[in-house]
Parts: sequence; C-alpha cells; structure tokens
Amino acid sequence: MPELPEVEITRRQIEPLLSGRTIATLSTTKDSYFFITKPAALKRRLKGQRVARLERVGKYLLAHVEDGQRLLLHLGMTGQLFGAGVSSVRLLSSTGSAALSPEGQQAFAPDDHTHLRFSFEDGGPEVYFRDARKFGKVQLLAPGERCERLDKLGVDALLANGDVLHAGTRGRKAAIKNILLDQQVVAGIGNIYADEALFIAGIRPRAQAGKLSRPACERIVRAAQQVMRRSIETGGSSINDYVQPDGSDGSYQDERQVYAREGEPCLRCGAAIKRIVLGQRSAHYCPRCQR
Ligand SMILES: [Zn+2]
Repeated sequence: MPELPEVEITRRQIEPLLSGRTIATLSTTKDSYFFITKPAALKRRLKGQRVARLERVGKYLLAHVEDGQRLLLHLGMTGQLFGAGVSSVRLLSSTGSAALSPEGQQAFAPDDHTHLRFSFEDGGPEVYFRDARKFGKVQLLAPGERCERLDKLGVDALLANGDVLHAGTRGRKAAIKNILLDQQVVAGIGNIYADEALFIAGIRPRAQAGKLSRPACERIVRAAQQVMRRSIETGGSSINDYVQPDGSDGSYQDERQVYAREGEPCLRCGAAIKRIVLGQRSAHYCPRCQR
C-alpha cells in the first residue's frame, strides 16, 4: 500500500499534469464503492473547472479546484495516477503484484480499471486514475465542505515532532507500532516506515506507547522523517505493488533494515530479524538493537 513517500512522489509527478489545466471532460467507470461522490456528480461539477494545485495530506491527495472545490483521492492498495503518453508505465493487473505485459503497457488505453479519465481543454495529455483492486476512493468536496476523513487525521508525519507523538501516546496501552499506524495521531506512516523508524530509534514495535519518554518519542518521529525523506529521494518502496507514475520502480526497498527481512541478519549487529504479529499486521525488528 502506498504510504506517505509513495503518495508524495505521485503528487510531485502528477501536479505538473494537473495544475493550471482546465478539465474538458471527466469519464468514469460505472458507479461502485470507489465513488464516494457519484460519477454523474463528479462529471457535472468538474467540467470546465481549472485545477489550481495538488496537495498531499497524510496518504491522501487533494486536488484544489479554482472554484473552491477539492477533489480527494486515495490510492488504496493499487491505485495509480499517471498521465497519457508515459511510455514506460508499468500497470498493475487485478491480481495485485503481477504487472501487465510490456505490450499491454506500451499501448495503454483506458480499461475497466481506469476509474477516472481527465481530458483537458488544452488537448494535451489526459490523466488517469487506475486501480486494479479498487480499494482507492474519490470524493469531491464542495467549497468550504468539511471532510471527516481529513478532519480526523493527525499532524502530517513530515511536520510532526516528538511533542505530537508524546501527547498522542499518553494513557495509551497499545503498542507503539500500532499507534504509528493510527492516522489520527500522526498521518502518513504505514507498515514499512513504522518498522524502519522503530529500528533506527532502537525501540521495539511492541513497546507500550504510553510509557515512552519524551526523548524516545522525539527519536521515533525523527527516524520516521529520516526514512520517509530518503524513500522520497529514492523513488519509494516497490516491495509490493507500487510503481511511480512514470512507470519506474522505487528503490527504497533495497535500503530497508528490517521490514520483510525475517530471519535475515541485522545489518548492524548480525542478529536474526524477528517478525511478530501486532494488531493483525506483521512487525519486524532486531531483538538486539531494539529494546
Ligand atoms: Zn541488530
């Protein structure tokens, strides 16, 4: 699932294809749970509107329209935003991690998985939202409309600090790993970066959140920011399904220390990396480096 770095990379690559352009038509697939706002309303309300900018909030993308509407996009597990004419895009098949054949990618035409297709008045490249497994979401907010999904998010992980995490963990008996995944305390961190951040901070995923000291919370937040910034620089993690909008794989997975490395030696001390299950998600850690 795309986490903050992958969503931020998508934002950086797609914003130039959206901002300043006027939507001529929006085509969609038929109504489904993907559409929080119904297709007919999306088409009607976005036609003729100019996109101002594309913002990232946690793991969400928010396209600001000049009339004050905001289009909320969530990539879900396999959502991909990309522009027409990207020659190398590696599109995901509905079976998840497998990609379409090279021939199928070269000649991409919007298919059953292409839920949104924006065409623009300038006649330039279209922009697609494709999601083979349809865990993504789209919602169009009217000017000034509140959005519960956004309102309940905590501070964006790149803007957070130790105080935010410390305050958010007081009185919490849950494991710190689960708190990091809870988007209401700090927004944007998912499974990969939570494991990596806790390794760098030297704290076990199972540690009781409410007992962590203020300096420990500071270490965790700084570590999370360090790994996520590095991931953005290296194109994100392509361990599971993620590919960048330009079709290339990220390479952060090559730098990970613990995530999905169960049984392999810790790169710092040589101890075997452990995997445990916390709140139905796996957590990976070094039993020697993390206390
Ligand atoms: Zn170690």
